[in-house]
Amino acid sequence: MHRITVVGGGFAGLTAAITAAEAGAKVTVYEAHHTLGGRARTAEGPYRTNEGPHALYNGGPHWIWLKQRNLIGPLAPLPPLEAARLRLRHHGVLRRTPPFALLKLLRPGVRQAPVDADFLSWATGIAGEEGARAAANYSAVALFHHDPGALSAAFVQERLRRATKLPPEAHYPRGGWASVIDRMAARAWNLGVRIETLSRIDTLPTDAPVVVATSLPAARRLLGDDSLTWPGGRTVLLDLALRTRRGDAFAVSDLDAPGWIERFTAQDRTLAPAGEQLIQGQIPIAPGERHADGLARAEELLDLGFEGWRERVTWRREAVADGRTGAVDLPGRSWRDRPAVDRGDGVYLAGDQVAAPGVLSEVSFNSAVTAVALILGRSALDLKHA
Ligand SMILES: Cc1cc2nc3c(=O)[nH]c(=O)nc-3n(C[C@H](O)[C@H](O)[C@H](O)COP(=O)(O)OP(=O)(O)OC[C@H]3O[C@@H](n4cnc5c(N)ncnc54)[C@H](O)[C@@H]3O)c2cc1C
Repeated sequence: MHRITVVGGGFAGLTAAITAAEAGAKVTVYEAHHTLGGRARTAEGPYRTNEGPHALYNGGPHWIWLKQRNLIGPLAPLPPLEAARLRLRHHGVLRRTPPFALLKLLRPGVRQAPVDADFLSWATGIAGEEGARAAANYSAVALFHHDPGALSAAFVQERLRRATKLPPEAHYPRGGWASVIDRMAARAWNLGVRIETLSRIDTLPTDAPVVVATSLPAARRLLGDDSLTWPGGRTVLLDLALRTRRGDAFAVSDLDAPGWIERFTAQDRTLAPAGEQLIQGQIPIAPGERHADGLARAEELLDLGFEGWRERVTWRREAVADGRTGAVDLPGRSWRDRPAVDRGDGVYLAGDQVAAPGVLSEVSFNSAVTAVALILGRSALDLKHA
C-alpha cells in the first residue's frame, strides 16, 4: 500500500488526500492552523465572510469532481430580480449594460488569444482601446490584478470568457466555502485519511512521498528553494455589513479601473443577521499604491451603488490579500512555465501558483490530482473519475 504525506489542509491538500485515499493509499494530512480550509475558510460569527468572493465556477474541473462525490451541498441561487441589479461603472457613471465595444471580444468567432501578446494590445485590435480597457478591467473579478491589460492575452481572455458566460458560471455554496471544506474533510475521514491540525511542518518528511499543498511562499521556505516564485496580484478587501435598503445594487463592476463590489446576501441570506446585508469589495492595487488608495476606490463604487451606505454601516473589516489570489501569467508565459509539480526526490507541489491549468482554485485542484497521479503512476483523468 502506498503511503502519502500531505502538508497543508486547504482545498489543494484535501483534494490530494481524497484522491489518494480513493485510490487506496494511506494518507496523513498535516495542517498548521487549528481548522482546515486555508484561504477557503469562512469566518465564524454573525458575518460569514470568505477571504474574497469565492465563487465556484461550474465550468471548472473541480465542479464535476465535487458534484460526483456530493461535496458541494446546497447552493445559494441568485434571484433574477437581484441579477438585474448588476451595475457597471463606465466613464464615472453606473450603467446596466456593457459598452458595445466590449461585447466584440465575447463573440463566438473571436479566435484564441496569443500567449505572447499583452491583452490590451491584442484586444485593442478587435474592440478598440476603450473596449479593450473595459474588458481588461472587468476580467479583474477573476484574476485580482491591478493591470490585467498588461498580462498575457491568452490568460486574460480565458478569465474574461469564464466571468462573462451566460448563464453565469459563478455559483455560491450556501453558508460559504466552509461548507464544502467540511464535506471534503468528512469524506477524507471516511476514507481513513489521518488529519492532524495544529501541526506545522518545518522539515519535509522523507519516509513517504510528500505533496506540499501550501501557498507558494510557504513551499519556498519549506523546500529551501528560492526559485519557487510566480507573480500574483495584490488586492484590497473591504467587508461591510449595512442595514438593508431597497434598491441597493447586487454588484458593481468597475470598467474604469479593476474593481468589484458585491452584496453577497443577495444570493445567500444566511451570511448576515436579518435586516443586514453583507457586502464585499475587491480592489486590486499596484505595487506602489497604498491600502488607502484601494479603499478610496471601493468607497467611490459604494457611493454609486449603495445610496447612504455610510450611515448604514453596522460592521466593517479591511484587509490586503498580497499574493494570495493565485497566479497571473505575463506575456510569453503560461501555466506550463510556472513551478513544476514534480520537484524530484518524492516531493510534489500542489497549489494555485504551480504548473497546472484552470482559474483560481482550479489550479490548486488540478495540481493536487496531478501530484497524486505522479506518485501513484496513474493517469490524472482516471483518478478524477474514480
Ligand atoms: C480574495 C480572494 C478571492 C478569491 N476568490 C476566489 C474565487 O472566487 N473562486 C476561486 O475558485 N478561488 C478564489 N480564490 C482562490 C482560492 O482561495 C485559492 O486558490 C485556494 O483556496 C487555494 O487553496 P490551497 O489549498 O492551494 O492553498 P491554501 O488555501 O493557502 O492552503 C494551504 C494550507 O497549508 C497550510 N500550511 C502552510 N504552511 C504549512 C506548514 N508548514 N505545515 C502545515 N500546514 C501548512 C495553511 O495553513 C493552509 O491551510 C480567492 C482567493 C482570495 C485570497
